[in-house]
Amino acid sequence: MKISFLGAIREVTGSNYLLEHNNSKIVVDCGYFQGGRKSEERNIQSFDYDPSSIDAVIITHAHLDHIGRLPKMIADGFKGKIYMTEVTEQLAKIVLEDAFGLMREPTHQEKDVIQIFEQTQVVGYNQKVNITNDFSATFYDAGHILGSSFVKIEWEQKSIVFSGDLGNCPNPLLNNTAKIPQSNYVVCESTYGSRIHEKATEKTNKLIKNITDTISQNGTVLIPSFAIERTQELLYQMDTIFDQHRLPKVPYFLDSPMAINVTKVYKQFPNYWNISARDSKIKDGDIFKFPTLKETMTTEESKSINNIRGAKVIIAGAGMMDGGRIVHHAKRYISDKKNMILFIGYQAQGTLGRSIYDGIKSVKIDRERHSVRCRVKAIGGYSAHADSHQIINWLDDGDKNKHIFITHGEEIESEGLKNRLIENGYSNLSIPNEKESVEL
Ligand SMILES: [Zn+2]
Repeated sequence: MKISFLGAIREVTGSNYLLEHNNSKIVVDCGYFQGGRKSEERNIQSFDYDPSSIDAVIITHAHLDHIGRLPKMIADGFKGKIYMTEVTEQLAKIVLEDAFGLMREPTHQEKDVIQIFEQTQVVGYNQKVNITNDFSATFYDAGHILGSSFVKIEWEQKSIVFSGDLGNCPNPLLNNTAKIPQSNYVVCESTYGSRIHEKATEKTNKLIKNITDTISQNGTVLIPSFAIERTQELLYQMDTIFDQHRLPKVPYFLDSPMAINVTKVYKQFPNYWNISARDSKIKDGDIFKFPTLKETMTTEESKSINNIRGAKVIIAGAGMMDGGRIVHHAKRYISDKKNMILFIGYQAQGTLGRSIYDGIKSVKIDRERHSVRCRVKAIGGYSAHADSHQIINWLDDGDKNKHIFITHGEEIESEGLKNRLIENGYSNLSIPNEKESVEL
């Protein structure tokens, strides 16, 4: 069997692997390259294989960097089946629609997105599915976002596990990442391969303190948030602390159509939540809603937030402030020292969020300069990714001889994970080069 590493190699976006055995060719993930114009130009380039020659695609989860080039694959002639969980299917519809609207240079037409779901075959966790005559696949819960998977692929007597993205356990909503099954090979992500996350208890206290401090000064808190997982986790946490009377009773706005739609999908699939979230639903009814929270779907509703004077909290996208409604709110609130921008997610180099996080004194938004006088705070620990410890724990099934390919991480993180694995007794490790093929 030949594996080719075609994306997310020494970087975190563009996941794409090709597996070839006998007459079968399958692809695992078909992600979008992100992070500035140069990365994005790679999305319009031809694939390293002929999409019409591929038998099937396996999708680990609905993040754009794992599904974003699927429509192009369809446009370029891919006719086979696409395997994913039912939650991934619903989230993928929202993610691909949103991405299409934002593309500077579209890679496909809208009809190609619709066609994806004609070719989709929904699979459940822990069930072995025959993908072609030569390959079978079993999906397991990765605990990263709702419906996310890691996948074991088998051929003849051998097997390889693709980690997809691994979750940051324990997560308030999701099940823990399932135990890794025995395999000969693993392709493992390393987003936080060398780092350790903050503790969850500190996270709640910091959230309460930052909101309370700002509200007590009659200020507005802006929380840039990712539409998938981060927002639902935040809403569930806010709902819990609101009920405990630990969250100030002021207006809260969820001002992101995408996040509102994703939250609907989360509500639709409680069977994918963990047991404590399901218990809360029985007691609370709606775990993503508390009395002073308002969802603002339309542009008019969004603009009407400006009419609310004084203390309030606005949760809006994009998570790194590189677009979306959060940017409009920033213009209004960024120059007043009683307000706060509260980051709860990773801010990539080159984004507006990163400049503000790094302490820039003034920013240009829509050609207008605004001085940054509001307070800027960040809470770690909300990451949807496993940290170094968690990755190593997941990999440990007692077999230190399996061959681990380290991917999906900046070079320093992949190297960091490799070194930690060596310290833990692993020796069969490699960080592949992009476009490298290996015979297994
Ligand atoms: Zn992901």
